[in-house]
Amino acid sequence: MSNRVACVTGASRGIGRATALALTRAGFDVVAAATTIESNAGFAAEMRAAGGDFLAVNLDLTSPESIKNAFGRALKEKGRIDVLVNNAGITRDGLAMRMKPADWDVVLRTNLDGAFLAIQQVMLGMIRNRWGRIINISSVVGQAGSAGQANYAASKAGLIGLSKSLAQELGSRGITVNVVAPGYIATDMTKDLPEERKKAILAGVPLERMGTPEDIAAAVKFLASEEASYITGHVLAVNGGLYM
Ligand code: NDP
Repeated sequence: MSNRVACVTGASRGIGRATALALTRAGFDVVAAATTIESNAGFAAEMRAAGGDFLAVNLDLTSPESIKNAFGRALKEKGRIDVLVNNAGITRDGLAMRMKPADWDVVLRTNLDGAFLAIQQVMLGMIRNRWGRIINISSVVGQAGSAGQANYAASKAGLIGLSKSLAQELGSRGITVNVVAPGYIATDMTKDLPEERKKAILAGVPLERMGTPEDIAAAVKFLASEEASYITGHVLAVNGGLYM
């Protein structure tokens, strides 16, 4: 059989990039999606060095039309998508009292609506093939809440409800739907946090370090594997013990 095809959103940087590399090394053909990934020479060089057959597609998750076009192209070129990793995500932090409707909207549209619309693009093919893996990247914040991140926490908690529902809808078709909930991971998303806040978060991490993108990629790789075929509707926390 030819290689399985995995699509990773938000593959240009951080956790998505590490996941695209890990899946490539595990023998998947990878479709890497992000807003301007087709012109991202650094990403392409890294994927080639990993020995991967990959396709980069530009995708804007805030646009249903872009989602349709990107997945349409990927499915046309690759024939199928067996694994979908909904990883792309954004924050627009602020206290709820002062949160602008636009900041609520764009976070929910990108993180939650975008993931759902992406799933709709790949679902039928997975059902036909009677095999599929959907892995949604939530957050410790979706499990525990976080002051100043009501929009982000709602989107990430929403992914958990979405995943558990789809796990029930799709189980009979050989499709598993799981969540990885990262803790505090060293990426662009966390690099500008004030030192004091970083220290305060780290004080609550029993393993006493920030996570790496590779820590998350390893969990995703496992859930995408044949060995994980009896795991569905699960929320796998990869957070150093920050939230149990
Ligand atoms: P980064 O900010 O490093 O990367 C975000 C990725 O999402 C980029 O590839 C970006 O693409 C892509 N993206 C953003 N907006 C869109 C959009 N509208 N359409 C398509 N792609 C988009 O994030 P991380 O790697 O840190 O986070 C990855 C996931 O993990 C996110 O869902 C995040 O919420 C979650 N997470 C992260 C944690 C952390 O501590 N870092 C903790 C818990 C969860 P582009 O380069 O084109 O902008």
